Order: sequence, then C-alpha cells, then structure tokens
Amino acid sequence: MSSDTPPQTDRTESRDQSDDSESALQTVVDQLSEVAEQIDLDPNVVERLSHPNSVYEVTVPIERDDGSIEVFTGYRAQHDSVRGPYKGGVRYNPSITRDECVALSMAMTWKCAVMDIPFGGAKGGVQANPKELSEREHERLTRRFTHEIGDIIGPMTDIPAPDMGTDAQTMAWIMDAYSTNVGETKPGVVTGKPMSIGGSEGREGAPGRSVALIARKAAEYYDWSLDDTTIAVQGFGSVGAKAARLLDDWGADIVAVSDVKGVRYEPDGIDTMAVPSFEEEPEAVTDDADEVLAPEQLFELDVDMLVPAAIGNVITKQNVHDITADLIVEGANGPTTHAADAILEERDIPVLPDILANAGGVTVSYFEWLQDINRRAWSSERVNNELDQEMHAAWDDVRTEFEQRSVSWRDAAYIVALSRIGAAYDARGLWP
Ligand code: NAD
Repeated sequence: MSSDTPPQTDRTESRDQSDDSESALQTVVDQLSEVAEQIDLDPNVVERLSHPNSVYEVTVPIERDDGSIEVFTGYRAQHDSVRGPYKGGVRYNPSITRDECVALSMAMTWKCAVMDIPFGGAKGGVQANPKELSEREHERLTRRFTHEIGDIIGPMTDIPAPDMGTDAQTMAWIMDAYSTNVGETKPGVVTGKPMSIGGSEGREGAPGRSVALIARKAAEYYDWSLDDTTIAVQGFGSVGAKAARLLDDWGADIVAVSDVKGVRYEPDGIDTMAVPSFEEEPEAVTDDADEVLAPEQLFELDVDMLVPAAIGNVITKQNVHDITADLIVEGANGPTTHAADAILEERDIPVLPDILANAGGVTVSYFEWLQDINRRAWSSERVNNELDQEMHAAWDDVRTEFEQRSVSWRDAAYIVALSRIGAAYDARGLWP
C-alpha cells in the first residue's frame, strides 16, 4: 500500500506548461486542485483526496494451458469511500500501471459524486493481454486475482465491474470465486454480470444512452434542433454505436462514424442501424462504404457535434486545432488531454465531460447493485426511466454551476462532485 501522488501545480502553470505526455495521475490531481480553489474546498479535504486510500499490488500465478506457471501483476486502487463503498472496473491490459489505476479510481470518485450515487472510486487491473489468454486461462487468472483481492472487495466494501479486456463472463467468475470463498452467494460483489446471476437489464447500453441524453440536453441548451444537428462519432463500439443510434433515432444526422480502420462519411446521414457495431462485427464500419476517410480525418469534419467514444487521449495539443465542431460530448473516458482541453476552452468550444456524459454505466451498475441487494429484478422500462431521471438531475445540477460560476462544463461537473464529497467529509470528520 502506498499513497505518493504528484505535487500540485497552479492552474495557469499546469495548463501552459503541460504537454500531452503529462501523466493521467498528474492530470487528475491538477484538475482537483484547480476546481478546489474555485469553490474554496477545505485544503485538508483536498489533501485527503489527492491520495488514494489504498493501493493493493498482488501477484497472480496461474497455470498456462501448456503446463507452465506464469505470474502476473494485479492492482486494486481504492481512492475514496466517504460517500459509500468503492466502485470501479477491472481491466486486463499489458500496460496497466499502479498510477493509471490510481488516476482512474479518482475519476470514478468524481463520476459517482456528480451522479449523486452513494459510491466512491476504485479501479483495478491485471498486467495481462487478454488476446494471449485462452478462455480457460482467462478464467484461472480471474479466479486467482479474485482470491488475492478477496479480503478487500465485497458488496459493502468494493464492487468491481467490467472494463477493457474484461466482460460479463469475467464478472461471473469473480462473483463465483468470491461467493465460494465466503460460503454464500453474493451477486452484489460485482456489476455487469450476466442476467442469469443478477445482472441488470439495460446495463450494456447505459453508457451510450447517457451520452445520447447529454448530447440532446446540450443541443437543447444551445438552442439547436436535433433535426438540424450533424454529428461525427469516433468509435462504433458499446458506447459509440448505442449513442449514435439513439441520436439518429431522435432525429440527428449522424454523418460520420469510425473505427480503427477508418471513417465512414455520408454527408446526408448514415443509417446507423445498418452499420455493424464493434460487438456485431468487429472493425467493419467502413465495409461497403461509398466514402472512407483516414481515422484522423474524423476530427477535421465540418460537423456541429463531435462524440469521441473510442479510447482516451485522442484530442491532443497536436490535433485540437483541426477540430471545427461547435460542441464536444465525451463518450470515452479521458479522450481530451489537459492541454487540448485548455485550447478548446480558449476557442469557446464547449466540452461535455466524460464524468457526466458516460456516467450512465456506473448509474445502471448502481441499479444492478440495488437489485442484487434486494433480490428483485427491474424491468428494462424501469431501468431506462430511472436512468433518464438521474441523467437529467445531474445535467440540471451541472448546468446550474455552469451558469452561476461561468466556468467550463468540465469544471462545473467537478464542482458538483467535489461539493458533495466536501460536505460528506465535513459531516463525518477525521477519526481516529
Ligand atoms: P468497444 O471496444 O466496444 O469499442 C471501441 C470502438 O472504438 C471500436 O469501434 C474500435 O474500433 C474503436 N477504436 C479503437 N481505437 C480507435 C482509434 N484509435 N480510432 C478510432 N476508433 C477506434 O469499447 P467501449 O466499451 O465502447 O468503450 C469506449 C470508451 O468508452 C472507452 O474509453 C471506455 O473506457 C469508455 N467507457 C465504456 C463504458 C462501458 O461500459 N462500455 C462505460 C464508460 C466509459
């Protein structure tokens, strides 16, 4: 366990000098101190929030299919639990690091708070390439990792979820290994499970749905009619395809969608249902397209709204000047670097931040957890209705700060989150 974090810098210094190689952890800590200053957050609370509560590093030995033993490294970072149990994904990725887990766990704390969900932030992962694991190896790795972190996860303490390289089946193995260890079936230990063991309706499509809801709210706010709004979406996976299809359904013109291979561009509007999502057929977005552009050309398109929904750090100091869209809605986690964000702010291009826009995922995870605790499943109508209500409430809270303080949408979302966390610290105090 450790708690070293980078030094804090002031807003101007960090924005002027930062470049795109700035670490994700430094970015999150800088954002925290910048926003804390604006709302006079107690410096003692800022100090506590600048450090994760705990970071666990474990070794995960497994038997490979050829009989050899390989030892992987796994992490679980638990950032803050002042508002409730830790919550956050588990990713399998060869390049995952301790600091990345800490940074992502902090972002989860803010995301839960902006949605007013009674959870704190966590993130974990194993340094493994899921493409190099057979299904049996994936299962062995998951069960052993669960065993190694078994003492620190649980329905009332820390609740993992799927993330890069993990899926509903991975969650089923975690749930089974944990339940076997504690001698009792505990569906609430993870979210994003298969329906047969306590998963929720609507969980899969929830992040894309929330991106579409926030995009629609933003269009309304700026007095745009969705019917006259052109949108380009980067990434046509779980988040991007769902968001694009809903916005298409609500009348917007989705003129470009992309995957790693390229951009499908149809200025008159794409029939998004006819384009296979990543899940339906991986990397087939440009198959049979009349006009295909290089992946990086997506940002140069003359559209009203841009939805980066693929991976992090794609809008950088290098390409931010190519962007001509009037509004950005972040579907992916951290698609905009800190330096690019500052330039977008200078150029008056509003950015609806990830911690609000894609928070539908953790919100429906919270609904799943409630259903597991109560052993009572909700209908998909109920899930979607409650998600819509939660997203609209969060939008209203963020919009109020945006208008009253004349800050960016990102800062407004952070202000909502940090005010709630600060109030919880005020009430609880520090003990022992
Ligand atoms: P996914 O794997 O289902 O789809 C990713 C898509 O992005 C694919 O179409 C892929 O081809 C495309 N892509 C990857 N690299 C690209 C590149 N360099 N240029 C263009 N396209 C590229 O992933 P997902 O679950 O939709 O997640 C997308 C993002 O949303 C990630 O940042 C993820 O962390 C975030 N997110 C996901 C969830 C969730 O529950 N799925 C929730 C919140 C946030």
